[in-house]
Amino acid sequence: MDYRPVTPSLVRDLRTIVGEKSVWIDHERLEAYAHDETSITEYAHAPEAVVLPTTTEQVAQVVRLANRERIPITPRGAGSGLSGGAIPIHGGIVLSLERMDKLIDLDLDNMTITVQAGMVTNDLAHTVAEHGLFFAGYPMSVETCQIGGNIAENAGGGKAIKYGVTGRYILGLELVTPTGDTLWLGGKLAKDVSGYDLKSLVIGSEGTLGIVTQAIVKLTAHPKAASDLLVLFKSPRAAIDLVPVIMRHGIVPTGIEFMDRLSFQTSCAYLNESLRYEQAGAMLLIEVDGNDPNQVEADLLAIGDLCEQHGALEVYVAEDRNAVERVWAVRRNIAEAFKVASPVQSLEDIVVPVARIPDVIPELERLAATYGMQIPCYGHAGDGNLHATLVKDPAMDHATWLRSKDACLRELYRVTRDLGGKISGEHGIGLKRKAYLGDVTNPVEIALMRAIKRAWDPQNVMNPGKIFELES
Ligand SMILES: Cc1cc2nc3c(=O)[nH]c(=O)nc-3n(C[C@H](O)[C@H](O)[C@H](O)COP(=O)(O)OP(=O)(O)OC[C@H]3O[C@@H](n4cnc5c(N)ncnc54)[C@H](O)[C@@H]3O)c2cc1C
Repeated sequence: MDYRPVTPSLVRDLRTIVGEKSVWIDHERLEAYAHDETSITEYAHAPEAVVLPTTTEQVAQVVRLANRERIPITPRGAGSGLSGGAIPIHGGIVLSLERMDKLIDLDLDNMTITVQAGMVTNDLAHTVAEHGLFFAGYPMSVETCQIGGNIAENAGGGKAIKYGVTGRYILGLELVTPTGDTLWLGGKLAKDVSGYDLKSLVIGSEGTLGIVTQAIVKLTAHPKAASDLLVLFKSPRAAIDLVPVIMRHGIVPTGIEFMDRLSFQTSCAYLNESLRYEQAGAMLLIEVDGNDPNQVEADLLAIGDLCEQHGALEVYVAEDRNAVERVWAVRRNIAEAFKVASPVQSLEDIVVPVARIPDVIPELERLAATYGMQIPCYGHAGDGNLHATLVKDPAMDHATWLRSKDACLRELYRVTRDLGGKISGEHGIGLKRKAYLGDVTNPVEIALMRAIKRAWDPQNVMNPGKIFELES
């Protein structure tokens, strides 16, 4: 793909649009935008310029310029992505939404909040919580990621069993298309079948179909009570086998998070956290919420009894919010902890129907033995979504690691497909899984995706090279 470079004259044009101080071209700052949280360093690629607009009109003008001059443009939220989506592999412009973090409108009558796309997800949650309202999006990166990034990845997280993923709460979004037009898709509407559902097409499209500049987010009443169980098991298999049993029991938990021993211990060490459950080979962190505290407690105890009947070693009811938050912090920090402890690794995101999740653990154990690597595992077990993490043995040389990782991933993805699953539940394809998508996806489906991309982005300037190559 032939793209034009960002020339000094283009930098002047960008500065005319967003202001002198909102276009960065110095090496040090560009390097900071060369990667996201994906641990695979070979993907790193710096942009030629970082642009920091504050308004939708500025975004539209920058995109029109990029489209006219055929310069690749990569939208970026907080850069917490785990598939390389915000990495500008063709250089060009990174358009960072970090300064577009304003509250536009809190509409208590319609139970919606409208925000600029760069608002940090936790800030949104706290803003609405002050009014007794609830935004159910809870990716484990909630303290840093942005609502625009959540929309682009259709982020899931720790409350998805009961509340679903991000897309369920996005009633409307303002989009700057790859050719620089601005439009609203959806609105403050409970339903809408007025033509193709383009809003849903944008959700999860990883920044390849345009830049989300504002979003209308649906809110619900804040649940009045929530409580958690920490359940210890002898082995990962014992813990995971219980997940479908809990799910069909009739109580819908908010989340069922799974951590094996290595994941838990690595995160505890990273946080300097002294929680000690040495006897456990794996654990489930189960949350129940609702409006009646007695019912929440009864539901939690019923799930606890079920776990005991099915071989749990210990069932702990978290007694206070502080204790709960400590365990959730351990869960939220596993990905980061592994990055520090084992920088050469591949964090996976497979998702299978929840009834098939017990089949995954023996497969991971088999793959670990076959390819000579550790594969610790954690994740949103109640969604069938596991973050198996392939970790390089320090004794393995790098070339062997690359070969083994590739073969192991191909096998893991085939197994996942055969279980009725997909290779990413929430982190996306981005760069990381692009080479594998074709192995496990109907070619007609990929051809339709390419046709959509060509129709939306004839110059292929909007986050090019992500999900699939445009030319096969
Ligand atoms: C410790 C940790 C825990 C995590 N836990 C979870 C989890 O539980 N669930 C989960 O789903 N994910 C999780 N993630 C992954 C990541 O946080 C999510 O994918 C998040 O939604 C990315 O948001 P971001 O603002 O950082 O986006 P970025 O990483 O900046 O970008 C991600 C993608 O979205 C595009 N994009 C960003 N903003 C926009 C926009 N305004 N318009 C159009 N495209 C845009 C980018 O081009 C890129 O393709 C985790 C990450 C970390 C580091």
